[in-house]
Amino acid sequence: MIQTQLYIDGQWQSPIDQGTRAIVSPADETVIAQAAEATRADARLAIAAARRAFDGPWRQTTIRDRARLLNKIAELIDRDAEKLAHLESLNTGKTLTESRTDMGDIAATFRYFAGLVASESGAVNEAPHHVISRTLREPVGVCGLITPWNYPLLQAAWKIAPALGAGNTVVIKPSNLTPLTTHHFTQLVAELDLPPGVFNLVTGGAEVGAELAESVDVDLVSFTGGAFAGESIMKAATGNFKRIGLELGGKNPNIVFADADLDAAVDYALNAAFFHAGQVCSAGSRLMVEDSIYDAFIGRLAERLPRIVIGNGFHGETQMGPVQSAQQHEKILGMVQAGIAEGARLVHGGKRPAGDVYKNGYWLEPTLLADVTAGMKIAKEEIFGPVITAERFRSEAEALRAANDTPYGLAAAVWTRDLDKANRMSRALRFGTVWVNDYHPYFPEAPWGGYKASGIGRELARIGLDEYTELKHSYINLAPKAMGWFGA
Ligand code: NAD
Repeated sequence: MIQTQLYIDGQWQSPIDQGTRAIVSPADETVIAQAAEATRADARLAIAAARRAFDGPWRQTTIRDRARLLNKIAELIDRDAEKLAHLESLNTGKTLTESRTDMGDIAATFRYFAGLVASESGAVNEAPHHVISRTLREPVGVCGLITPWNYPLLQAAWKIAPALGAGNTVVIKPSNLTPLTTHHFTQLVAELDLPPGVFNLVTGGAEVGAELAESVDVDLVSFTGGAFAGESIMKAATGNFKRIGLELGGKNPNIVFADADLDAAVDYALNAAFFHAGQVCSAGSRLMVEDSIYDAFIGRLAERLPRIVIGNGFHGETQMGPVQSAQQHEKILGMVQAGIAEGARLVHGGKRPAGDVYKNGYWLEPTLLADVTAGMKIAKEEIFGPVITAERFRSEAEALRAANDTPYGLAAAVWTRDLDKANRMSRALRFGTVWVNDYHPYFPEAPWGGYKASGIGRELARIGLDEYTELKHSYINLAPKAMGWFGA
C-alpha cells in the first residue's frame, strides 16, 4: 500500500494532526493508497519555510543554476517516466498510453522553461550617459500552486517549471483525490540538492488551498480547477493583492462545416470528446454541425460509439477508462438526464456499461445526445465526462453566435476546407485557443489559457514564465549633482 507524506522545509513529515485520506482506484473502488491529509496548520508551516528560503540563499541563484535544475528534473522525469505513468493511470483511471504521453509532455515542459530561463537577460534602456537604466525581471516570491485531479502532474509541471525557473519558492497542493504523482515528483525533487523550503508539498483539501490563497506570506497563487473554487481564490487573494493566475473550465465548441474533410472531422469529434473520458478542460464536447451534413454526421458517430473499448487503463486494448470519482459519475449521469428532459435525443450511452467488470468503479458509456439546442443546460454548462452534445446550425453567422454565447472561452475548433472561412472564424471566436482542422494539440511554446470565465492569465510560452516574475526598473545615477530647487 502506498503511503504519502508531506514535504516541508526539506523534511518528509506527517500532518500535525496525523490526518490521512484513502485514495481509491476509479477502476474498481479499491483503496490504492493512504495519503497524508494536511490542514491549514501544515500549510502555514510550508508557507513559512518557503518564505525563509525565498528571503535566504535561494535569491542568489543564477539563471544558469536554475536552468540546470529544470533540466535535471526533466532527466529524472524521463528516468521514472514509466513509474509515474503507472501511478497517474492508477489514480486517475486514464489509459496508460495517455499517461505516458503526459510524462513526455511534462519532461518537455521542464526543458522548454530551462531554455527560456537560460536566455533571460534584462534590458538596458536608453538614458543619459551618467545613468544606467535597466529593466530587470525578478521572482515574485512565495508561490502557492493548486492543481486539479484530471491532469495532476501535467498541470503541476506547467506551474512548477516556470515558478522555480524564475527563482521563486513553491508550496504545491495537488487535488486530494489524485496526489500520487505529485508525491512521487516531490521524491525526485528531494534527490536534488535544493535548499530546504524551496519546494514544499502539502496534500489536502480545499482548506489547504484556501490557506494558500489567503496567506499574506504568499505572493502569487496559480490555480487550475473549477469556477467555484476559482472565485473564492480570487476573493481571498485581495488580502494582500497577491498575483493570481486562474485556469478554469470550458464549454468548447467543435464546429463542423459541410465542406470539411468529414472522415477526419468524424474521427476528431471522438478524440475531442473522449480522451480521458471527457475529463479535459478543453474537451470538445459541444459538437456543432452544419445542417446539410448533420444527419449523416450523427449517423457516422452512432456507428463508432458502440465500438469504443471501455476498460481498465492498464489493458492494452482499452480506449477509454472510467471517470475519476463517484461524485463525477453521479454529476454526469444527472446532466445526461437533464438533457433528455429538455428534449435532447439519446443516440448512444447515458449509463453504466453492462457486465460484471463494470459493477465496481466509475464507468460510463461514451454518450451522444443529438438535437441539442443552444438554450439547453447541457449546451451551456461544463459536463466534464464522456458526453457529446450535438447541435445543428444553418449559417456561419449562426454558428459563430451560438459558439460565442457562453461565459467560457477556453478552446474551440473549426472544420472547413475554406481558408477564408477558417481565418474569419479563428479571428471571431472568443477563445484562448482556436484549432482549425484539428483538436487538442498544445505544446510548451504556445500559450494556454482562457478568455472570459475560463480564467485569468496564461500558462506555457514566454508569458507562462513572465507571470512568475516582477518587472523592476533599476536606475543608477553615476554622477549625482545638486538640483538646487528647494530653498537653495
Ligand atoms: P476544483 O475546483 O474542485 O479543485 C481544484 C483544486 O482546488 C483542488 O486541489 C482542490 O482541492 C482545490 N480547491 C477546492 N476548493 C478550493 C478553495 N475554496 N480554495 C482553494 N483551493 C480549493 O476542480 P477539480 O474538480 O479538481 O477540476 C476540474 C475543473 O478544473 C474543471 O472545471 C476543469 O475544466 C478545470 N480545469 C481547467 C484546466 C485549464 O487549463 N483551464 C485544466 C484542467 C482542469
